[in-house]
Amino acid sequence: MNKEITIVGGGLAGLMLGIGLRQNGIPVKVWESGHYPRHRVCGEFISGRGQDSLARLGLLELLKNAGAIPAKTAAFFSEKKSSPVRELSLSAISLSRHVLDNLLAQEFRRLGGELREGERWHEADFAEGVVRANGRRMQAVENGWRWFGLKAHARNVELTADLEMHVSPSGYVGICRLANDEVNVCGLFRRSAESGDARKWPEILRGAVGSLRQQRLAGAKFDEDSFCSVAGLSLRPRRAVAHKECCVGDALTMIPPVTGNGMSMAFESAEVAIEPLVAYGREEMPWAETQQLIARRCDKLFERRLAWAGRLQWMMFAPGLQNALVSLVPRSEWLWQMLFKQTR
Ligand SMILES: Cc1cc2nc3c(=O)[nH]c(=O)nc-3n(C[C@H](O)[C@H](O)[C@H](O)COP(=O)(O)OP(=O)(O)OC[C@H]3O[C@@H](n4cnc5c(N)ncnc54)[C@H](O)[C@@H]3O)c2cc1C
Repeated sequence: MNKEITIVGGGLAGLMLGIGLRQNGIPVKVWESGHYPRHRVCGEFISGRGQDSLARLGLLELLKNAGAIPAKTAAFFSEKKSSPVRELSLSAISLSRHVLDNLLAQEFRRLGGELREGERWHEADFAEGVVRANGRRMQAVENGWRWFGLKAHARNVELTADLEMHVSPSGYVGICRLANDEVNVCGLFRRSAESGDARKWPEILRGAVGSLRQQRLAGAKFDEDSFCSVAGLSLRPRRAVAHKECCVGDALTMIPPVTGNGMSMAFESAEVAIEPLVAYGREEMPWAETQQLIARRCDKLFERRLAWAGRLQWMMFAPGLQNALVSLVPRSEWLWQMLFKQTR
């Protein structure tokens, strides 16, 4: 009789792990405080090795059948300057989280997993057999800044590339194509810990008057039901071996969203955890060893990209560097390929 694994959090990392464990016959319970389907603050742009993880678990086809579309090009904009359209050296896919999370939840249930939807895990302790997949760790203020994310779907927006990245002094906004002539508009913003922001969300997403982002979104018809927000983000990289608990996804560490690699890391960390947790479930490996093995593998996988993503995130907000980023990086094939490769 295999031991049961409890996963706290039915987001991408928790569900992917649950699916992988069920494919190996391990009993799994996932606790999810929310309900499906639901919108999430996310650029909805899946880029990097996580696509291979999805393929290995037989999930990539499911996503494509559910409306995931390929994203092959990107363009960059500051408030006044634009870059040429660049090919992505590794194609990404775009899919609404409203569809994606629900799809994975259904697949987990189909495989016999127990999904405790609408049930919050209240215990502070993540003891033996419990995996922490409950997403980002809250941090109200980091280095004097409050970080927050906004997202909404919109229609009537013509893009020059599959992904447009617009940078401004207060944050950056990714606009990516989705199926059915929709786009996802999602931004990461910061404000100083002392200042407030009385602006409404469409105003913040649209950007400063006269900016290229505002021009791009001038005719946008936002879907109000898809709007969501998140605050208290911490973008400081964390090492998995420093955690006492077994963690996957954002619960382990968050990568700056500019890379479009957070979902990939959720899928990759979940995949890395499957084999050790199966061994634990079959009583072939003790818990402490299982937890440490997963942590070491995650650190090895993510260390380099987290370091590069941190540098890129810093450049996105460094005064005077934004125009240079938009002008220089996409114009130099070498720089563009190097940054793209190092952050995934
Ligand atoms: C502004 C912004 C833009 C982004 N854009 C992109 C992008 O374009 N591409 C990309 O790859 N990544 C992007 N990301 C990152 C990506 O969204 C995350 O990395 C990804 O969602 C992490 O998945 P997860 O499963 O770890 O966490 P989540 O998806 O956050 O799932 C955690 C789950 O745990 C549940 N939960 C929490 N606490 C409890 C509890 N106590 N009991 C039960 N359930 C609980 C929550 O309800 C949630 O469903 C972006 C992030 C932000 C903030």
